[in-house]
Amino acid sequence: MKRNYLKGLLSAFAVGLMGFGASAQPNVVIIFADDLGYGDLSCYGNPTIATPHLDKMAQEGAKLTQFYVGAPVCSPSRAALLTGCYPKRVGLHVGVLSPNSKTGLNPKEETIAELLKEEGYATACFGKWHLGHHDKFMPLNQGFDQFYGFPYSNDMSRKEQLKINPNSKYKYHLPWLDQRDTIAIDPDQTNVTQKLTARALEFISGNRNNKFFLYLAYPMPHIPLYASEKFQGTSPRGLYGDVVSELDWGVGEILGLLKKKGLDDNTLVIFTSDNGPWKVFKTHGGSAGPLRGAKGTTWEGGVREPAIFRWPGHINGGQQITDVTSAMDILPTIAKLCKAPLPSRKIDGRDISSLLLSNESPEERPFIYYTKMGKLAGVREGAFKLVADGDAYYLYNVEEDISEEYDLKDKKPELYKRMMSLMHELDAEMNREAREVGRL
Ligand code: MG
Repeated sequence: MKRNYLKGLLSAFAVGLMGFGASAQPNVVIIFADDLGYGDLSCYGNPTIATPHLDKMAQEGAKLTQFYVGAPVCSPSRAALLTGCYPKRVGLHVGVLSPNSKTGLNPKEETIAELLKEEGYATACFGKWHLGHHDKFMPLNQGFDQFYGFPYSNDMSRKEQLKINPNSKYKYHLPWLDQRDTIAIDPDQTNVTQKLTARALEFISGNRNNKFFLYLAYPMPHIPLYASEKFQGTSPRGLYGDVVSELDWGVGEILGLLKKKGLDDNTLVIFTSDNGPWKVFKTHGGSAGPLRGAKGTTWEGGVREPAIFRWPGHINGGQQITDVTSAMDILPTIAKLCKAPLPSRKIDGRDISSLLLSNESPEERPFIYYTKMGKLAGVREGAFKLVADGDAYYLYNVEEDISEEYDLKDKKPELYKRMMSLMHELDAEMNREAREVGRL
């Protein structure tokens, strides 16, 4: 009895301290892989790639199995994550940005970083940005105090293109930036994962007494693949496996540091990827597991991603959440958990905190599929998915038929018709309300 009393007193004291430090707002870490597929982690069924740290993260948190990203390619998907909006709503739906683009994420849009900075969080973006490389679109103008990494993809480099095709006329170089300074051109990418992880650890340590938001967007396993010497030749899956193992190591380093610094139960950590595997590069691309399609397609393999949410003491460990969720839900969920107001402009995601914290399913919301060029391509409602392949449309029950093999269009003509009009209705609304992309 006495012990319990003491324990109660101690926890009351701890709660008091938390109130005193005003740290009831959790830290947030988003780890975003690039082109990692639904089937690339061992906790999502990969038979040869070992991801012990991510597997442990899933055991200690929630593993989502029907989690979508906003687009099947990099730039629009990143816009969706950071703004909570469909890429079309923020005008960034048409393909990926390149080193000669004159557009970017409109600085008028409010990112997760801006919401949290307003609440006094220290904010950092380390890794790949790819939302416009001109200064006005870059992280330092989108709510981040710090930036360290690439402005766009790791293959947008003459040096790398020449390795793929010795006759390549590609003329752009890939800068590596620290804040606004170019510290290297076409750098050796072998140590990119190591360097970004080191910077992330430094940021967490340096802000252990502040609230912080870390957006760690690893440029891997997007081609060209690079692993550090320590990881080269370690995976039976080949170089791709080495690269994913190294990302897994990075996740382990971050979770280990949070534990060591006593930040574990005050930090929400989210792991996911921007789009499906780039299978045209054969074994240098990943796996979508049982899902059809790959990066660039609106089959499930293009847009359904592994997603793990971990917050010890708040999110129960070992959960598998099968509700349909999306990367656009992350902004409103973080806003709720961090007690930050939502952006003033309309967003598409919804708060899923009660799903994560107490297993209460949120109101269902249809998910709209857009192609990599931003063209309307389908809708998901409940278990059903209407999807275009070129001009032809198909209807699948993606819960019974995860690989989209059995078309139900002729068996369910009423449903097919209803979903077709739902898709057009939702898109028409989007068109009416779509906002301008950022321009130079
Ligand atoms: Mg990508």
